[in-house]
Amino acid sequence: MASAVSSGFVCHICGERHVLPLSYSVNGPEAVMAIPPEEFESRLTITRDQCVVDGKDFYLRGRIPIPIHGMDEPFIWGVWAEVSPKNFLHTAELWNTEGREQGPPFTGYLNNQLPIYGDTLNLEVGIQTQPVGRRPSFFVKDAEHLIAREQRDGISLARIEQIAEFMYHPAAS
Ligand SMILES: [Zn+2]
Repeated sequence: MASAVSSGFVCHICGERHVLPLSYSVNGPEAVMAIPPEEFESRLTITRDQCVVDGKDFYLRGRIPIPIHGMDEPFIWGVWAEVSPKNFLHTAELWNTEGREQGPPFTGYLNNQLPIYGDTLNLEVGIQTQPVGRRPSFFVKDAEHLIAREQRDGISLARIEQIAEFMYHPAAS
């Protein structure tokens, strides 16, 4: 199945062969989109993994892993979640601490829209810290939501192709 991934797939929408990504990521939380660029400097602090808006809203970048049937590595959505000030500071304090992944999960709320799943803004997630150097894993709590079902049951290669078609041609889907 890995070879099927490396050779790409033939798109049902345009008929071309596309690369088949096994991950997608967004560069910042949705909240950043609401800030006019001229106000970034005064209102926004953002790195590759952490974001603070107006000194009071805190966001962490993480990964929603979705098992792929027949493969060892999961499919990944790289997204952001809003977290409490306390959990943000706690995460920052432990950033380079070995064994930090042994801490309990904490709660966050997705701060990105993933349109292929409908409305994902503010979905509650459990956040599990990973070993130093790896982004935290997010687990969607609303068991009835499609993304939570896929995270629980896993997805097929055909579904990953469907996701790719949507991402390559959002207007056609
Ligand atoms: Zn296409």
